[in-house]
Amino acid sequence: MARSMCCLHKKEKAVGSCKKCGNPICQECMDEYQENEKNYCYYCHTKMVAKEIKKAEKTAKKSERLKKRLEREKELYSTSGGRFKLFFFIYPFRYYIGSLVNLVKVIGYVAGKHLLSMGCGGGMVSLIFFTLAIILLGYTPLIALIVPLVLVPFKWLFGSLRPKVRNVEIDMEIEELEGIIENDTTILQNMRDYYEYLQTVVSMPDFDLTDLTSEGGKLFENTFAQSIIQNGSQSAHEKLREGLVEIAANGEIVRKRVIKSDNIFARSTSAAQAT
Ligand SMILES: [Zn+2]
Ligand SMILES: [Zn+2]
Repeated sequence: MARSMCCLHKKEKAVGSCKKCGNPICQECMDEYQENEKNYCYYCHTKMVAKEIKKAEKTAKKSERLKKRLEREKELYSTSGGRFKLFFFIYPFRYYIGSLVNLVKVIGYVAGKHLLSMGCGGGMVSLIFFTLAIILLGYTPLIALIVPLVLVPFKWLFGSLRPKVRNVEIDMEIEELEGIIENDTTILQNMRDYYEYLQTVVSMPDFDLTDLTSEGGKLFENTFAQSIIQNGSQSAHEKLREGLVEIAANGEIVRKRVIKSDNIFARSTSAAQAT
């Protein structure tokens, strides 16, 4: 019966099935492609790895983009024309974007409350929330339009946007980002190498990893295969998993940095909280 044979190793008897597609899998596949105590076949596992790589690439790109933005900001800070551009165009514009995001949150909150109150039949409650929504919708953009134009020069004169303060801050942020980017690059390489390793190993059933990883071998420059040779399969997989967690954490740091740099008010409040 064909169904009882492993979908990858056609001569091996299946001992279980893939959680995702239901394909039969053998013991070896079960040991090799298990994730979070769930069994997957080779094909679904490889697809999941490819997906994780794409996700990690996106995260890494965000860090690069933020670094470029900071470098440009630093450059603008060095001339008076650049500072004028920053203070009267770029910073206010970023603030408008930042407050738009907040506005969407407010709308979502109000709409949610409204729906809830409709369910409860509380007409008065929904009326109050709609009134609130109109007030917020009507005035927030107006305030947002004027405030940054007044506040940015003020902050430049007395606060955190003074070139001396801001330049040090930018340098620190760039340094931190460089560390993150270097880290992400190493992790991403390891993930791509794992993908290559998966495909190579399957394409040759009688492979010898020592041969493949020695000089001239197909996986000589493959960091994942080398990691297996040096520290064993379990440790290589663990390192891969740790990398995934780390790249997600780095992405979160960068995401917060972007929000901070979009909103000059957020910058001042978080600085005030830190001191
Ligand atoms: Zn599957
Ligand atoms: Zn198998």
